Amino acid sequence: MTISIIGHGYVGLVTAAIFADLGNTVWCVGRTKEKIEQLKKGKMPFFEPSLAELVKRNLQAERLKFTLNYGQAIPPAKVIFICVGTPSKDNGEADLSQVFSAFSSIAKNLTDYKVIVTKSTVPVGTNKKLKALINKAKKKNAQFDLASCPEFLREGTAISDTLHPDRIVIGTNSKKAQKILLELHKPIEGERVLVGIKEAEMIKYVANALLATKISFANMTAFLCEKVKADGEKVLNGVGLDKRLGRVFLYPGIGYGGSCLPKDVKALIKIGESFGEKMGILKEVEWINQSAVKKFIEKIIKSLDNNLQDKIIAVLGLAFKPNTDDLREAPSLKILSFLKKKEPKLKIRVYDPQTREKAKKILRDVVYSNNPYQAVEKADILLILTEWNEFRQLDLKKIKKLMRQPIILDGRNIYEPEKVKKLGFKYLGVGR
Ligand code: NAD
Repeated sequence: MTISIIGHGYVGLVTAAIFADLGNTVWCVGRTKEKIEQLKKGKMPFFEPSLAELVKRNLQAERLKFTLNYGQAIPPAKVIFICVGTPSKDNGEADLSQVFSAFSSIAKNLTDYKVIVTKSTVPVGTNKKLKALINKAKKKNAQFDLASCPEFLREGTAISDTLHPDRIVIGTNSKKAQKILLELHKPIEGERVLVGIKEAEMIKYVANALLATKISFANMTAFLCEKVKADGEKVLNGVGLDKRLGRVFLYPGIGYGGSCLPKDVKALIKIGESFGEKMGILKEVEWINQSAVKKFIEKIIKSLDNNLQDKIIAVLGLAFKPNTDDLREAPSLKILSFLKKKEPKLKIRVYDPQTREKAKKILRDVVYSNNPYQAVEKADILLILTEWNEFRQLDLKKIKKLMRQPIILDGRNIYEPEKVKKLGFKYLGVGR
């Protein structure tokens, strides 16, 4: 099949590369000349494991093509996927301007029959508005059907998530579109969930809201465990082994971040309120998430005897989670910006395996180290803010010798408290 993908972010580029690798001809449309030129040369706009190799292979095979021109990409395509961003507006609603702009450009270039699929996360009812927009802008004889196939990939494991998803949601009110989408997805494993457009739009938000709820529930448990001096990890393990509950996403830490959970929780609250529902649970989920950052900051300040002046803080990990360079809504940025604002003379030294170039544009007044050992030199405290695998087996004896004060604040609970304490560190995790 010939297909077109609008947007080459984490979702668009992975989807494009995988459908090309499965033998389809794929046009990937962007809006920035410089980025499209880089992509044509096989240069990635972000880090995702194994994606560069996949893109290069399919560029060479001429199955994957990049363009700025909708006029080139839309006419030959049978299916068009919209994978543009839907960030939060200041009031928490989803900002749909990228989606509407992409649909306007598609409408102008519609010729014969197409299935237009929204992969971007959009509020229930959006496809109805998009249908009206296309009907108004398209040429009289151009035919189309709409579908909603929300995306569930996780950054860091995006390729395997796309090839082996738990489920593929195909939401459409057209049998013809459903048949075409089932055929296109044939080589991909995963249960098919065949629903209407509204159900598909809802599934994505509700899934993300429930994931965020599990994280906040784990953090709420951790807050209480700290007060009653119980080990929250052991408590959550005991709870999560119940198959009805599950341990996945039931981990305490410094809260959820990234480009999806924070914005989707906010948007679902707004959607609910617009229909007269209070969405109270989700407001608490957000509040606990903010508290997780606040409580971690309080621990840092207390561990440094309420005096940040001229202190050196070493930080391992900035990305909102491991195996990505995505810093959107990363708790690390909130923590470090707060500390720097509170004490401008504070020195911060950071090491993260992938985010350096992106971070430099956001966090200017910090020193970027080349490895964890360089970051901890003469530091008064070490903060673990992302659970990259390479931090799990560091030479802690060496780290202790390099630091000015042996204090570790582990925001991701990657170390065994007893082992670290035995080495002479003061150690604090989350919920234990
Ligand atoms: P992103 O911001 O990384 O990428 C969006 C891309 O769309 C950019 O390349 C941008 O240049 C391009 N774009 C915007 N308007 C355009 C236009 N008119 N024409 C052509 N290109 C245009 O976003 P993302 O992280 O890939 O997310 C995309 C959507 O998928 C969002 O709705 C998000 O909520 C959802 N989603 C994301 C993830 C994830 O892990 N990132 C997972 C599941 C779902």
